[in-house]
Amino acid sequence: MTGDNAEVVIIGAGLVGATTAYFLARQGIKSVVVERDAIGSHASGFSYAALGTYDEAGMTGTHFDVASHGMRLHAELADALLEETGVNVEFRKRPSLVLAFDEEEADAARNPQGFDLDRRSWEDKQGYSMRWLDRDETLRIEPRVGPEAVGAAYTEGTTDVNAYRLTLALAMAAEKRGAVMRQGSVTGLVREGGRVRGLLVDGTELSCDKVVVAMGPWSQGASDWLGIPIQMQPWKGQILRLRLPGPPIRTSVAGGDHFASTKPDGLTWVGPTFEDAGLDESITDEGRNEIMSAVLRNIPSLAEGDLVLQTACIRPLSADRKLVLGKAPGLEGAYVATGGGRLGLMMGPAMAWLMAELIANDTTSISLAEFDPGRFTV
Ligand SMILES: Cc1cc2nc3c(=O)[nH]c(=O)nc-3n(C[C@H](O)[C@H](O)[C@H](O)COP(=O)(O)OP(=O)(O)OC[C@H]3O[C@@H](n4cnc5c(N)ncnc54)[C@H](O)[C@@H]3O)c2cc1C
Repeated sequence: MTGDNAEVVIIGAGLVGATTAYFLARQGIKSVVVERDAIGSHASGFSYAALGTYDEAGMTGTHFDVASHGMRLHAELADALLEETGVNVEFRKRPSLVLAFDEEEADAARNPQGFDLDRRSWEDKQGYSMRWLDRDETLRIEPRVGPEAVGAAYTEGTTDVNAYRLTLALAMAAEKRGAVMRQGSVTGLVREGGRVRGLLVDGTELSCDKVVVAMGPWSQGASDWLGIPIQMQPWKGQILRLRLPGPPIRTSVAGGDHFASTKPDGLTWVGPTFEDAGLDESITDEGRNEIMSAVLRNIPSLAEGDLVLQTACIRPLSADRKLVLGKAPGLEGAYVATGGGRLGLMMGPAMAWLMAELIANDTTSISLAEFDPGRFTV
């Protein structure tokens, strides 16, 4: 591998790109990761990074297999990265409460549709336990829960991680094993016949045999390069970080689609928004107001917090909400790895693992048929 050629080039140093480089490097395959901004400077650096919450436990089919594998890898990576880079990625177990505000929500929380069966296998695999708490029991776990909550689903064994540290540590560990992180913007692929011969980085050709599009919500921009449509529906999310008086919120408290939890840095993260705003990543007053009015129902005393930081980034959701993971049909040597959407932090390591397997062995331990990047072609 020299400055202008490589065996594998990965476009994008978000979690998926950085982890793919790491797992390839562990198999002795060196790669160049090209990132136009900074490592982890979009969703992978600003995600809430809850892993294995109540919603995810209800996942079915192949996504469930990928998520389960992702959860196993997160636990392993936390230890491996500390050893290899000295970075503590703050992977920790912290329980979660999902509040119910009326009997209908309580019924759904006690026995959500399609959840029971999956929950059993999820619990077996991940060591989770979930139970219903009435209002008094909920208040014993978190006394600040709002007066309207009638109870909560309480899950022990759920985890979270520091998304930015994780992405950075993976890039560092990959570099230590021979990967190269290169700053630049990819503007096109170089093809020869039906195969990849390289790509253009800021107008300069970088030769390679294989290229992985891990461009998150921007992956749609690779459609023309690949000759197939990659249909993404970018889904913007804003989060507020508050400094709260009083003790930390030790569980993740969710109600509706909104959460609050104190992170190891002492700040309480609340959010998110779900906005169809294209590729816009700006923070807005409307986003801030929407989050605060939603989370105050869950925990009214959040109103006493000082706003320290407001962030916005984009979930890489595909048009049919499935992963886009595998070979790009019709172009030998081209691969796509995106579509994690709102669960991309949890699934990211498994997506990267499968991508590395595919590149190294031309086969994967979980079938990727459902995630075929060619499926958007009409
Ligand atoms: C508010 C919010 C909260 C979230 N919370 C959770 C959560 O609790 N749990 C969970 O599992 N997931 C969560 N997610 C989702 C998760 O963060 C994402 O799915 C995941 O980080 C996506 O990683 P990625 O590597 O695919 O994309 P990204 O992190 O977007 O990385 C893609 C990279 O590609 C680069 N790039 C793009 N085009 C080019 C180009 N032409 N040349 C070079 N580089 C390029 C970009 O600069 C970027 O760095 C959340 C997301 C948001 C927005």
